[in-house]
Amino acid sequence: MEKRDESICDSVWRSVHQADLVRIRACLTAGRYRPAHKKSDSPGNSLYEHCIAREDGLLTDSSVCALHKLADGSIQVDYRWQHSIAQREQLRSEVFDSVILTTPSWLIETNMRLEGFSKEMLPQPIVDAWKHAHWETSCKVYAPLQKRFLDSTPKFPQILVTDSFVHDVYAYRYNDRYAYDCILLSYTWEDDATKLAAFSGSELVDKCVTELDRILMRCSNIGVPISPYIDKRNIRIQRWMTDRNSLGCAKLYRAGTYYQAISLMKYNRDLASTSGLYLAGESFSVDAGWTEPCLRTAIDAVINLCAVTGAQFNGDFSLEHYPHYQVV
Ligand SMILES: Cc1cc2nc3c(=O)[nH]c(=O)nc-3n(C[C@H](O)[C@H](O)[C@H](O)COP(=O)(O)OP(=O)(O)OC[C@H]3O[C@@H](n4cnc5c(N)ncnc54)[C@H](O)[C@@H]3O)c2cc1C
Repeated sequence: MEKRDESICDSVWRSVHQADLVRIRACLTAGRYRPAHKKSDSPGNSLYEHCIAREDGLLTDSSVCALHKLADGSIQVDYRWQHSIAQREQLRSEVFDSVILTTPSWLIETNMRLEGFSKEMLPQPIVDAWKHAHWETSCKVYAPLQKRFLDSTPKFPQILVTDSFVHDVYAYRYNDRYAYDCILLSYTWEDDATKLAAFSGSELVDKCVTELDRILMRCSNIGVPISPYIDKRNIRIQRWMTDRNSLGCAKLYRAGTYYQAISLMKYNRDLASTSGLYLAGESFSVDAGWTEPCLRTAIDAVINLCAVTGAQFNGDFSLEHYPHYQVV
């Protein structure tokens, strides 16, 4: 009997570009309104140029561990500078007029102390809303792939959606300046990612490679194993739930808490002028798993920050034109 394509469905529902590159790793950013520095900014300056011109403009490898609301209304941000290298880590502080909080919400509860914010500035229902959000998990298993494999197997699809525990498999062709291509051996979400949680990195890679070989050998249009082309010494496994900078990959709201989640989106307009704290990003939106709501909340934070600092909007825009979020 002829072999059949057992579990390959070459549907392109998310390109490698979308899934792997679109995840914008924004940092918690803090801004200080300092008119004295304005002269150095020419209108053509990018945000990056603007930030690197300041000592405190762009702090990389810095993990914020506390926000203190000070008596003069400003906010002290404590952060661990160079936190990825234990020997070099230093606890530092800066004081800002306003702070935009963009971290995944479970990290606020577990890694950051928020002090000095009164109940009027930061009401308990707001804190509850970010504490009780549900975060999904996801897992990706990457490995370098010898270029010979895609050269010699032109029918290998860019994306395989399987019914096996590896779930989805993506192949990525780098240009000739790179020695290797890349294979995403397994891309899973929620229960499918949880099933893989107990396996060590090397166990998981072995299982995925063996499973992919099994699938490919049964495919009439492939019929060759991929294992000889995979560099198993240089794998990279990303598990969002145990990544200390994430604790989850996509935020959902629990049943019955839609309006509680919307209240996070109202916060900037209603209370940020009193607290100096602005909320932006996936943690404070209701459409999880996509960058669009993150951008929308980022724009919302900027609009409200501009309004509070007395900035002049273009085109006669004012907050009167800006719709309100409804929470009932
Ligand atoms: C597997 C996966 C696939 C996805 N695919 C798509 C897709 O195809 N299309 C799409 O539109 N969206 C996709 N998304 C969703 C999109 O990536 C997110 O919605 C978006 O990145 C969220 O942006 P954010 O700025 O809110 O948070 P993040 O991008 O998570 O940024 C939060 C930042 O805070 C930093 N941070 C954490 N703790 C601290 C601290 N204490 N101090 C300072 N900084 C800290 C983190 O390092 C991180 O850089 C995907 C997400 C995942 C996980």
